[in-house]
Amino acid sequence: MRWENLALDTGGHERAAGTALFGAHAVVTRTFDTPEFAGVTFHEVRARSLVNRVPGASRMPFEWTVNPYRGCTHACVYCFARKTHSYLDLDTGTGFDSQIVVKVNAPELLRRELGARGWRGEHIAMGTNVDCYQRAEGRYRLMPGILAALRDHANPFSLLTKGTLILRDLELLTQAAQVTDVGLSVSVGFTDPELLRAVEPGTPAPQRRLDVVRTLAGHGLACGVLMAPVIPFLSDDPALLRATVRAIAEAGACSVTPLVLHLRPGAREWFMAWLGREHPHLVRRYERLYADGAYAPKWYQRRITRQVHDLAREYGIGPDGAGTPRRIRPPGPVAPPAPGPTQLSLI
Ligand code: SF4
Repeated sequence: MRWENLALDTGGHERAAGTALFGAHAVVTRTFDTPEFAGVTFHEVRARSLVNRVPGASRMPFEWTVNPYRGCTHACVYCFARKTHSYLDLDTGTGFDSQIVVKVNAPELLRRELGARGWRGEHIAMGTNVDCYQRAEGRYRLMPGILAALRDHANPFSLLTKGTLILRDLELLTQAAQVTDVGLSVSVGFTDPELLRAVEPGTPAPQRRLDVVRTLAGHGLACGVLMAPVIPFLSDDPALLRATVRAIAEAGACSVTPLVLHLRPGAREWFMAWLGREHPHLVRRYERLYADGAYAPKWYQRRITRQVHDLAREYGIGPDGAGTPRRIRPPGPVAPPAPGPTQLSLI
């Protein structure tokens, strides 16, 4: 790790560490003896700042992000945020899945930054790097304080998640939506259970995520679905696309936005190693499809987009169809990001 461990082992599951990245404040490293956190190590830090300006913001649909965690126990093999763990000299493979940095002072820091004279109340996107409703949130409960700060400052925001824990904060989301623009989006790339276990082993099942959409809609909170990623040759079969879009429609999503898998450095190595183990016959096809870099060819992306949009029309997704009444604004458009420096994970 880039931060320098002082290795003051307390004999239990805690130890203090110094860090170059998070200032002179101590880092406390913990493990918990509960099945849900087996094999997971938490590094609690006091961050020096929270609202982050996105590099190359002109190419992104948002400029400011908040990420209370780094690393994600949802452990998606394709996760685009893996590379960011290397900035801490942490492993981008299993380390990303199991070494979780927790910014324990996130709520107080955000409240202070939102109240700063220079802050102009711009839109803040959450869930753009790692999932803020991953399992750790059940223990650390950072999001209630974050949402309360955004509500109190009537600061517009959007939130993208695969976590069902978001429903714990339903009341705060409702309150925030009454005073500012709130965009909610759940990520469901496919509904096939076997593919889920292989590719997104730490996430709630797609049906449970769609129940989140349903519940939010039932409370008058419009929720879109980011259909991401569509995985070439594994989840792009027309019948699978249809089943997924139909389930999204039945959940009452106000929109569906498809996004084809992209494989930037960090994610690419991990995903291709997995592919070689699980689907070796696909390796050559992937090498050809992604021969030009991190993105599938435009023709492929256009084909998937057209198929999903046609299905969405057929199933009536959107404000004129089966979608819920819009009480709050859906998240900003999440288009395939252009190549370049970005931390967008599109969970
Ligand atoms: S893709 Fe999203 S949910 Fe999956 S591991 Fe990455 S940050 Fe977590």
